[in-house]
Amino acid sequence: MIHNYNEPKYKNRRKNLLRTLTEKGIRDTKVLAAIEAVPRHLFIDSAFADSAYEDCALPIGFGQTISQPYTVARQTELLAPQPGERILEIGTGSGYQTAILCQLDAFVYSIERFPQLYQVSGKRLRTMGYRKLMLKSGDGTLGWAAYAPFNGIIVTAGAPVVPETLKQQLADGGRLIIPVGNNTTQTMLRITRIGDDFSTEEFSSFTFVPLIGHEGWNNSST
Ligand code: SAM
Repeated sequence: MIHNYNEPKYKNRRKNLLRTLTEKGIRDTKVLAAIEAVPRHLFIDSAFADSAYEDCALPIGFGQTISQPYTVARQTELLAPQPGERILEIGTGSGYQTAILCQLDAFVYSIERFPQLYQVSGKRLRTMGYRKLMLKSGDGTLGWAAYAPFNGIIVTAGAPVVPETLKQQLADGGRLIIPVGNNTTQTMLRITRIGDDFSTEEFSSFTFVPLIGHEGWNNSST
């Protein structure tokens, strides 16, 4: 499903962003096409619209951020969602990463801790025409058992450890993309389930807002 938002001003800025992402090492052409198709300026307050296609995180309220485009592209590239796959996202936030996954034709289940962000992003995604998604507000560290197992799980907040519940909700061959570390720097991990075994690959460092919940940080420890 490809939406086209062809306002010339933003279209040109998206092209420039693609160049930046390519220079930074993003290679997956489907991911780049999704970034080109999704209007990031509609996922943030209009006061920040002029910065929407700079490669930076921006505030979305409640102390949270829409992730940097490079981070979204890299996590999506590592997840490599295939059309029709069932993907669980932890941290809906603005809904931008959700839209990128929908654009790649995944069926997306997404959980957001803040009810207000869940409501705003849900309305936004439906208004934009995304239909293959299920959203809820709650603690994503506990996964979404009713819809498990998932072909992929993407965590868009920094975790102190890998939540065991999320590993157990992976299908055979499923991938969990999660930044794990302290409250300033996290290493991106890709954990792949093979039967009852899990293999872990480590990628570069990132800085995320904290994953707060039962199998994440305590509200008071960050
Ligand atoms: N994917 C988002 C986007 O594109 O805008 C990124 C948003 S931000 C980097 C991470 C989000 O994770 C925040 O909205 C935060 O409230 C949420 N979050 C943190 N802990 C969570 C948890 N346990 N369950 C669900 N959401 C959580």
